[in-house]
Order: sequence, then C-alpha cells, then structure tokens
Amino acid sequence: MKSLIKVLASGSSGNCYIIQTGEEKIVLECGIDYKSILKGLNYSIKGVVGCLISHKHLDHCKSHKKIFENLPKVIAPLEVLEKFDYMSSSKKVIAENKESIHIGNFIVMPFNCQHTNSDGSECENLGYFIHHKMIGRILFVTDTYYLKYKFKNVDHILIECNYSEDTIQALEPHEQRVFKSHMSLEILKETLKTWDLFSTRTITLIHLSRNNGEPKRFKKEIEQLTGIPTYIAIEGLEVG
Ligand SMILES: [Zn+2]
Ligand SMILES: [Zn+2]
Repeated sequence: MKSLIKVLASGSSGNCYIIQTGEEKIVLECGIDYKSILKGLNYSIKGVVGCLISHKHLDHCKSHKKIFENLPKVIAPLEVLEKFDYMSSSKKVIAENKESIHIGNFIVMPFNCQHTNSDGSECENLGYFIHHKMIGRILFVTDTYYLKYKFKNVDHILIECNYSEDTIQALEPHEQRVFKSHMSLEILKETLKTWDLFSTRTITLIHLSRNNGEPKRFKKEIEQLTGIPTYIAIEGLEVG
C-alpha cells in the first residue's frame, strides 16, 4: 500500500505535503513551484480534490495562481483569498475556525493558530484536522507559537517544531523576534503532554528552522516524551 503522507518540502523556503488515500489526494500548502508539486503528484492531478492553504506567507502559498488554475477547489482563510484576489473565484472555499468542510470524501476542520507577520502584526493562520474514512485522522499545524486547542483520536500528527529556546538565547532581540511567531521544541512538548495520544501512530515534525532547528535532538526528545515514532519532514519523506 502507498504511504498516506508525502513531504515535498518543509520549512521557511517552502512547504508542500500530499495526503493520499489511494483514489483521492489532497495537497496541503503550495509554497513551492507548481512544477515541483506536479512532480510530487507523479505528473497527474487525477484524484486531487483540492488544496488547503494555512496562511498568506509565500512559503505556504507561492503557487496559488497555478493551483487556482489547475485544481478543483482551494480552501484558505479569508486573508489569503482577499490578498491574492480570489473572492470571486468559484473554486475558493473560505476556511473558518471550527467550520467543517467536505471536499471529496475528506472532512476538513480548520482551527485558529497564532502567528504574526514580520512587522509583528497578527497573521490569520489555520491548522487543519483532516478526516477520511480510509485513512483516519491527520492533524496539520504549522507557523504557530502556541496552540489553544487540545486534540485526541489523531492517527498522524504533522506539527511545527521550529527551534529550541536555548539555542536562540545567544541571538540579538530583533533576531529572536522572528522565532517568536513559531513553535519551539519546549512549547511543543508542553502541548503534547496535555493531549491524549493513545491512538497516535506517527508524529512528523515540520517547518524546522534551517539554522536553529536540531533535527536529531528534536526527534529524540519528542520520541522520549511520547513513545511514538517521530519523523523529521524533509523532501521525499513518506509516512503512514
Ligand atoms: Zn512558514
Ligand atoms: Zn508564516
């Protein structure tokens, strides 16, 4: 059987993931060239029901134009649809906090995350809880310094682990600010401690900082805490 989740890219230079059930696929984020997305789909958009976008930063939505041209539906927060002028597109679906969306046989529940722009202003950002009867429940969370919701009954978790608080101590305050809109290892651990992970089979750490992410350490510490197989999202990783 084919894997459920495929990582095409993860991090501040671009994000794209594919969830596949056999017959249906969903593209999660389109922050890389459309050509690379197509390659990840084996050059066929057959069975692709749509694309989910978390927020307006280009590492998450660089290919929005081609995605709108080629895929049947695009689910995104209002801020993304307004910024790139898609409010009159019949393909757009406005994602709102805790409003379920049916797309193919997927049921997608968006939820609010906490993220800021480089000037410190708030950036509308959504996580997605994705259910499909063939593959179970997948949680997708990125670019959030904190998560106010608790989750349970999740089979596969994809969650940001950007940096560790002790490695950014040495940076200047203005450099540290960039990290403050992202999830640290320490906050992630505190968050996971409060969740019921009984049915969780895999955890994939995504959006690591290129210079301040420590893949081996993050994987080890999350595995030690949860006892669940943990992966680092790099191009080509397949999970599930
Ligand atoms: Zn990002
Ligand atoms: Zn961002």
